[in-house]
Amino acid sequence: SKGKIITVVGSGLIGRSWAMVFLSGGYRVKIYDNQPGQASRAIAEIRKQVEELQDAQMLRGKLSASEQLSLLSSHDDLSQALEGAFFVQECVFEELQAKQTVFQAVENHVGEDTILSSSTSCLMPSNVFSLVQNPKRCIISHPVNPPYYVRLVELVPHPETLPTAMDMAFELMTEVGQAPVRLRKEIDGFALNRVQYAIIAECWRLVEDNVISVKDIDLVMSEGLGMRYAFIGPIETMHLNAPNGLEDYLGRYREGMRRVLSSFGPIPEFDGEAAARINKEICEFIPSDQEHLSARRERRDQLLMGLAKLKK
Ligand code: NAD
Repeated sequence: SKGKIITVVGSGLIGRSWAMVFLSGGYRVKIYDNQPGQASRAIAEIRKQVEELQDAQMLRGKLSASEQLSLLSSHDDLSQALEGAFFVQECVFEELQAKQTVFQAVENHVGEDTILSSSTSCLMPSNVFSLVQNPKRCIISHPVNPPYYVRLVELVPHPETLPTAMDMAFELMTEVGQAPVRLRKEIDGFALNRVQYAIIAECWRLVEDNVISVKDIDLVMSEGLGMRYAFIGPIETMHLNAPNGLEDYLGRYREGMRRVLSSFGPIPEFDGEAAARINKEICEFIPSDQEHLSARRERRDQLLMGLAKLKK
């Protein structure tokens, strides 16, 4: 990583997190934002967080807080921000047009080999990069919030993305301590959100159909499935849950799985009376004012920090 430059375009929640992740790997990070002053505010926030992480002995990477912070700069001028970059991580608003225009502009200021990477959560690479001249080096690197503790990055190629561009992104993400996975082709929702939405849909239906309370369905995940999913995935779970592995599991549970799956209801509306009732129920133990929500987010991040430590 010595001296190599990564440019982060957009300095909101995710841009700041990416900057911290890349700094921890020893990269020089240049932050750009089109709101004047926003990038320098981001730097002040990053400085505070990196110092707090050092005090909590949770700072990632081999460099000290001050060494990491010396690699960071903010820019209000795009061409200046992109000078020398071998990798660009875009983190602007989740709006297709904004991203298309940003990549069109970025492409004018970088060489042919610079990797152009988007943080989009749910836009398709073929749309995000549709105005780019050379999509062979374009890729989506979708992080999970907060990326400093939750290391997964979904790498999603444009139909024209070169395997070498995927490999480069994979190596970079691994080097800075993230956990990259490759999708072989683009698909709506990528992998993480498809799985997440399947879980949300069934949890919602169970509450909507009065089978279980909001509090209890969340416990089914946090005290049950979630306990193992922090360490092993669903396929390995199947493999380990029968004496002779996956085939044995299928022999025992195939019919049961298919029977239960065929009883699943339609896609919920996520609206109307059910939404009002579910909202009322969650707000009974977590009111939706800023004070309660931030306290709960802080608790989440503390717990994730502990889990990240444990996973190491
Ligand atoms: P945010 O609103 O916190 O930050 C967006 C930043 O981009 C702002 O600082 C804004 O000034 C800047 N910006 C907007 N247009 C710009 C432009 N044309 N050029 C330069 N800067 C511009 O948003 P966020 O939560 O950080 O999300 C950024 C991206 O990351 C989105 O695509 C989002 O889907 C994705 N993402 C978010 C999460 C999450 O949990 N927040 C998780 C994974 C991925």
